[in-house]
Amino acid sequence: MCPNPLDLNKAIAIHPAPRSDTANLLDFDRAGLRDYFETLDEKPFRADQVLKWLYHHGISNIDDMTTLSVTLREKLKEKAEIYLPEVESGHLSEDGTSKWTFRLRGGNGIETVFIPETNRGTLCVSSQIGCALDCSFCATGRQGFNRNLTTGEIIGQVWLATKLLAENPATQNHRITNVVMMGMGEPLLNFKQLVRALNLMLDDNGYGLSKRRVTVSTSGVLPAMDKLKEAVDVSLAVSLHAPNDELRTQLVPLNEKYPIKELMAACQRWVGTGDRKRHILFEYVMLEGVNDQPQHARELVKLLKGFPAKVNLIPFNPFPMSGYKRSSATSVERFWKILNENRIVATRRKTRGDDIEAACGQLAGQVNDRSKRELKFVKPRFGENL
Ligand code: SAH
Ligand code: SF4
Repeated sequence: MCPNPLDLNKAIAIHPAPRSDTANLLDFDRAGLRDYFETLDEKPFRADQVLKWLYHHGISNIDDMTTLSVTLREKLKEKAEIYLPEVESGHLSEDGTSKWTFRLRGGNGIETVFIPETNRGTLCVSSQIGCALDCSFCATGRQGFNRNLTTGEIIGQVWLATKLLAENPATQNHRITNVVMMGMGEPLLNFKQLVRALNLMLDDNGYGLSKRRVTVSTSGVLPAMDKLKEAVDVSLAVSLHAPNDELRTQLVPLNEKYPIKELMAACQRWVGTGDRKRHILFEYVMLEGVNDQPQHARELVKLLKGFPAKVNLIPFNPFPMSGYKRSSATSVERFWKILNENRIVATRRKTRGDDIEAACGQLAGQVNDRSKRELKFVKPRFGENL
């Protein structure tokens, strides 16, 4: 934990409430910002300059954009703003993982996590306030759903994390080299805002990340998977978690709408054509006695045989009243071995940030639930409370 996480706030300007006709400059990708500048009777290249101020220099004050004329800065201040969420708290785990809670207009809170590794640093970004999809093992789903994040609130997490890491002496050497859309929410159910934010992550005038280093994780929103491929070139992770429909529907209720056969066909379309060989990362959360048995591993082998896939076995991260337990190391090893013997590439994810509840699926933020989800969870599903 940071000695005093709230100290982090001091360095960030907290912005006042918006005027209703004000555009947030963080809501535009390059194409959108160029169009916006045209509506202001300004040259589109001004948009590129603004993007560089925002994302290369981390500027959040229009007055500081000194390559723009004073008149243009005045015009922008009148018509637009740079709105970032407020930093509510920051925690630093013993293993170097950082987690922040950002407070949004309207009062909800979202969480963003940074995980440093030897040769890279991964930022886990949220796409929605809560999640409507209700996967039974996920703390975010348990919290219900409030609304989609705006583009500015998605890219703002990268902006704020970059700044906060640099400002804390304990993390100033940490760099964001990868972004995974694996925080709160289902990114493909917030498609337009997501794609604009992804464009900014990839854009040379934005964060300039390579497409291999930006990953969208989905529980399998099929029509949007096809659309994503057309819209932007990023990597895809699919939350599979079970090798058959009966079990998957228990864990990921969306499976009822888009069952495994259709999901795999969409995955095939994703890898199928295009100018580069794609593969898909399949995520599989290991739940003791539920989906971690040898027969599940053998079924998974059958399902993925010959497919350009990598499987990531994720230790289940418990949260109160989940009703699930993390699989034992022996079960994970046994499962992994079966995949490995059958030439399915599988990795075992290390749990990071356990001590600050920053691990996958533990992100909960403060969601003002509009779906009244919590009423459904008066009893744990399986076994004792965890
Ligand atoms: N909605 C998207 C992305 C956010 S969830 C999706 O479901 O893919 C990111 C990842 O965390 C998913 O693979 C999800 O299944 C996993 N996850 C959710 N709850 C978890 C938990 N309690 N322990 C471990 N992983 C979890
Ligand atoms: Fe939503 Fe993903 Fe959690 Fe499922 S696992 S409830 S899709 S955030």
